[in-house]
Amino acid sequence: MIEEYQEKQPIAYKILKNAILNDEYSHAYLFETNGFYESFNFIMAFIKGLLCPEKKTKKENCNNCHQCEVIESGNFPEIKIINPDGMWIKKQQLQELQKEFNEKALIGTKRIYIINHAEKLNKHSANSILKFLEEPDNDIIAILITDNIFSILETIKSRCQTIRFKESLQIKDANEIETIKRIIKLNHEEELDETIETKIKKVIEFINYYEKNHLNTLIYTNKLWHPYIKTKEELIDAFEIMILYYKDLINLKLKKETEIFNSNKEIENILEKNKIKELCDKLNIIIEKKNSIKYNVNANLLIDKLIIDLEGGI
Ligand SMILES: [Zn+2]
Repeated sequence: MIEEYQEKQPIAYKILKNAILNDEYSHAYLFETNGFYESFNFIMAFIKGLLCPEKKTKKENCNNCHQCEVIESGNFPEIKIINPDGMWIKKQQLQELQKEFNEKALIGTKRIYIINHAEKLNKHSANSILKFLEEPDNDIIAILITDNIFSILETIKSRCQTIRFKESLQIKDANEIETIKRIIKLNHEEELDETIETKIKKVIEFINYYEKNHLNTLIYTNKLWHPYIKTKEELIDAFEIMILYYKDLINLKLKKETEIFNSNKEIENILEKNKIKELCDKLNIIIEKKNSIKYNVNANLLIDKLIIDLEGGI
């Protein structure tokens, strides 16, 4: 139920809850997940709220009428989910979707399509959906979801209402390490402060080293990375820190306010060497690699692959 997210995402909750209650919704939403790990469930709760036939009679979202149950089971025919097919969301996927949606709705009055990883819409595929986004039938709602708003094409952004989820982590603090520590601590309550602090520093050092030495970093991962980052949880945290770091590098490059990191000599160095597009690409690669961390991940291979991909995947 959408009420579950009232505390975790107060602003987004208010906007979405209002849309449900008043039945006044946008025809295209762009959700910026900001690393909020329950993003998809939250969005599905919103969709359920919009579609539920009981919503007018009940103040709370019902979640137990027949329709809500079918949606929950993933078998509701009027909701289509598109995921990237390989590197990109392909034009053909969107054409098929539009063809299907041009026929009338079978059940209910609204039809919804969800595009996961909308940053994977390239110019080619995006073009095929622009008109669809712009002049939808009254009953069609587009839901675009992205981990990286910086890579969303402007033509798409301008056609959507953007909903930004609050980061699972806190905003800028006078002390960077303290801020990050608070985030990481969510995962490792039992660890000593110094241990965590060392890890954060090591991850930043690793990135700084990589930005200076590129592929040569491969030779030194045994020194730079592996002694500090061992478990799967540590690996996820490390990637989270890298994501925060690159996001702020992009913010600084765009002369926007940063979330955590303040500029310093190392950062200036990186900004000088990277164009905005390069930073965005790197951020995408790190997000992708983080999402690929599964149970018995081989950390050595993952880090090697990360460096190689950051270098343009030679
Ligand atoms: Zn219901």
